[in-house]
Amino acid sequence: MTKSPVILWLRRDLRLSDHPALTAACESGRPVIPVYVHDDQVGSLGAAQKLRLDLALAHFAKVLADQGSKLILRKGAALDVLRDLVKETGADTIYWSRLYNKPANDRDSAVKSALKEDGLTAKSFAGHLLFEPWTVETKTGGFYKVYTPMWKAVRGNDIAEPLPRPAKIAAPERWPASDDLADWSLRAAMQRGADILASHCTVGEDAAHSRLGQFIAHKVADYVTNRDLPGVKGTSNLSENLTFGEISPRVCWHAGQRALRDGKSDAEVFLKELVWREFAYHLAHHTPRILTDNWKEDWDAFPWNTDITPHVQAWQQGRTGIRFVDAAMREMYVTGTMHNRGRMIVASYLTKHLMTHWKIGLDWFADHLIDWDPCSNAMGWQWSAGSGPDATPYFRVFNPVTQLDKFDKDRDYVKRWLADGYRSPSDTALAYFDMIPRSWDMRADAAYPDPIVAPDKGRSRALDAYSSRGF
Ligand code: FAD
Repeated sequence: MTKSPVILWLRRDLRLSDHPALTAACESGRPVIPVYVHDDQVGSLGAAQKLRLDLALAHFAKVLADQGSKLILRKGAALDVLRDLVKETGADTIYWSRLYNKPANDRDSAVKSALKEDGLTAKSFAGHLLFEPWTVETKTGGFYKVYTPMWKAVRGNDIAEPLPRPAKIAAPERWPASDDLADWSLRAAMQRGADILASHCTVGEDAAHSRLGQFIAHKVADYVTNRDLPGVKGTSNLSENLTFGEISPRVCWHAGQRALRDGKSDAEVFLKELVWREFAYHLAHHTPRILTDNWKEDWDAFPWNTDITPHVQAWQQGRTGIRFVDAAMREMYVTGTMHNRGRMIVASYLTKHLMTHWKIGLDWFADHLIDWDPCSNAMGWQWSAGSGPDATPYFRVFNPVTQLDKFDKDRDYVKRWLADGYRSPSDTALAYFDMIPRSWDMRADAAYPDPIVAPDKGRSRALDAYSSRGF
């Protein structure tokens, strides 16, 4: 008798190694049907994420094919698609890796209940995080609202070794029909910039593992100093792979721990950064409103600008006349990522100098980042704006001019991303002008713009607004 297959519903776990749901499906001894569902949550992803997803799916389909398996693509509401596949294949079991942001969690809970009511086995597995958010508790049984105590609580925890790739992924006798990836047109929203952005992506599990290996071998020893210098490529750049689950956080954690044992003491700060990602998920699990609303409610009455004003447009288009801000915004437009120092500077500038609601920045990032992560993005924006838990104090307004002198002394970063005003601009800086919409009417050979808001004026305006509101 043929065994009924297990459906493996893939989402942000496009890898073979350290994949508990895949391992469990393979260990069941039954055929495995890997499926990716294009539902409305995929439909609402930003343009850069969709392009990166297109690359990730195309790559993972090849990886599965090399294993004698196949990636089935279907479009529709997740529950409908899974029920259809159950009918078509005779499967009675559906496995997936858990996600933790509220929209995904709500969908998954509803899918799980409905499949169970159908008499099926529906089971979710860990794999996207180091710690399930509900397993980390304060001494009084609450959740952490401040990062450092959480780091202290988890740093010594035993984290299981990563799982190996399954030796074999058994195929069903007959494969169900699959959509053609090209018909999903995931790259369409990028318009002119698609090929340039794609050239900056590092796609797939093998590439992610080799990225981690290079980082541990050549960069982690100087991570503490170099991670703050945007002109130096001193960080792991793994966020794009972590967000698509092309590498597991457990693999990164153990690599960091080995580096620490090998005497590379800076690796501890890399481990701390991985725990910042955990902290973002911990907060989003315990207070889902962090994704959509001011975490500190006293900020609800703050008179943020909520319109796309000409100043906000200048921020979006990298033409504020503040070099650090513009370089970082253009870096994101071209590569789909932005150095962490850049993210802090542009977020502070938008929310403080331009007194604009962090949600406008959050949405712009969501549309332009290939490493967009719902929880890290929301935490980063609320941290920068001052409205989040463990946020930067409202009175700490980053000065983007002195920050440039401190972190980009030789202007390597600025020269990499700004063309206007330079006699021989870099290729990366020029690429921006090949990507942006013509309607922005920006030219690489134009003079660099004057500041739209003088840094000191913007700072004092923000501080006046805070003190008049009693902050
Ligand atoms: P590394 O320095 O090599 O760190 C290793 C990993 O640790 C990262 O890949 C990431 O997974 C995690 N990490 C590092 N710093 C942070 C942090 N501050 N918060 C959470 N996790 C962290 N990160 C995203 O992955 N997606 C986002 O959408 C995102 N949006 C952000 C928005 C704002 C306003 C700010 C201030 C930060 C945001 N971050 C986001 C966090 C951080 O900027 C990126 O994780 C980091 O720049 C990624 O580069 P890397 O992989 O080289 O990091």
